[in-house]
Amino acid sequence: MKLVLATKNSGKVVEFRRLLEELGARNLDVFGLDAFPEIGDIEETGTTFEENSLLKARTICNLTGLPALADDSGICVDALGGAPGLYSARYSGQGDAANNAKLLDALKEVPDADRTAYFICVAAFVRPDGFEHIEEGRFHGKIAYEVVGSGGFGYDPLFVPDGLNCTSAELSAAEKDAISHRGKAMRAIAPYIIG
Ligand code: IMP
Repeated sequence: MKLVLATKNSGKVVEFRRLLEELGARNLDVFGLDAFPEIGDIEETGTTFEENSLLKARTICNLTGLPALADDSGICVDALGGAPGLYSARYSGQGDAANNAKLLDALKEVPDADRTAYFICVAAFVRPDGFEHIEEGRFHGKIAYEVVGSGGFGYDPLFVPDGLNCTSAELSAAEKDAISHRGKAMRAIAPYIIG
């Protein structure tokens, strides 16, 4: 069976492939959108993580005629009313380092107890026969006072998972998969993909 991941991010393709294999996917050919250069950017016009992930999976399934898996994710910070949320990737408009600097600045007056946040990932799987399924995973923690660690991506150097004394940028890929929003959403949706 072929599966197209609705992402151009090769890091995400590697992560998805690893998770699906760990979850027992066999004979599954997993492609990213780099295998379909004719497909341009899909505008994320939804107002929720669910709408965006479903929009991406439906579009890619329609364009390729193959089963498609999409995810939409972000970080929601309680003291900021859930921001940056849907806009996590484009929070500063200038990439990961500037996003982290902007978040630290927004929280500079916020005490430890109120620095709670969670990552969310909504995964959507759509097949050409019309089958659709959505799953969500959350990863709870707190925002640190400075960036620490060099693993992961995005807001990982600022995110201290509940129960740990390090940031998610200090975890190995396997350690992060075991507790992350994306790991949880993928473990939940994998049985629907693998069948
Ligand atoms: P998207 O899901 O590709 O739209 O991107 C969501 C954005 O949320 C990313 O660009 C990151 O800024 C942030 N994000 C989502 N998941 C993670 C994660 O596991 N670690 C760090 N940042 C993340």
